[in-house]
Amino acid sequence: MHARVGPPGCVDMRLLVVEDELKLAAYLHKGLTEEGFVVDLAHNGVDGLHLAMEGDYDLLVLDAMLPGIDGLGVLAALRQSKQTPVLMLTARIRVEDRVKGLQSGADDYLVKPFAFSELVARIQVLLRRARPLREADGAAVLGLADLELDLLRRKATRAGRRLDLTAKEFNLLTLLLRRQGEVLSRTEIAEQVWDMNFDSATNVIDVAVRRLRGKLDVPFERALLHTVRGMGYMLEARDP
Ligand code: CA
Repeated sequence: MHARVGPPGCVDMRLLVVEDELKLAAYLHKGLTEEGFVVDLAHNGVDGLHLAMEGDYDLLVLDAMLPGIDGLGVLAALRQSKQTPVLMLTARIRVEDRVKGLQSGADDYLVKPFAFSELVARIQVLLRRARPLREADGAAVLGLADLELDLLRRKATRAGRRLDLTAKEFNLLTLLLRRQGEVLSRTEIAEQVWDMNFDSATNVIDVAVRRLRGKLDVPFERALLHTVRGMGYMLEARDP
């Protein structure tokens, strides 16, 4: 039997790589297999979409420029029914392309040419994120500045004062706190907290964030929950 050489945590993680440059595809297949992933390849958008819809993948590495259906087309079709994490590979670096891709449901971007180690690191981040909140390892108490969240007792306090949160608000705050300092898109918040997709959820997220902010920040001097225009929301202790 062939022993896996990858670090634990990759074991039995299945990836689909959709890339039309054959040499790059073969290189990624070889490298990711060596990292311990189970890797399938598709060389065009049509095959990629078909495999992604039929297969049970933990993550897609999706090239943006593909014959047949391009990466954004594959992503849009996939997102109708599946929330598999997608890391897009792109030659384009313009901010508006990035934003367009993230709005269409890509979870992350990597601009070509990239270092293989960076690809692996980003894949691992996305796979970790995709795990349900309750399975995430780590402390039972999360904190930021004077905010504290006790996950076992499901109790939130700020400056020692109890915050009266609904179950969804508590889950939303848990997600934001686990990922403090990172911008979370509405898409991701919708998937992780509401198990919904983006189109149906935008307004739900905004309303929930506003309510959470009313309890979390409004009564206190320093705001922790920030809106990042056009991108999403972020929990961070900024200098007053
Ligand atoms: Ca390409």
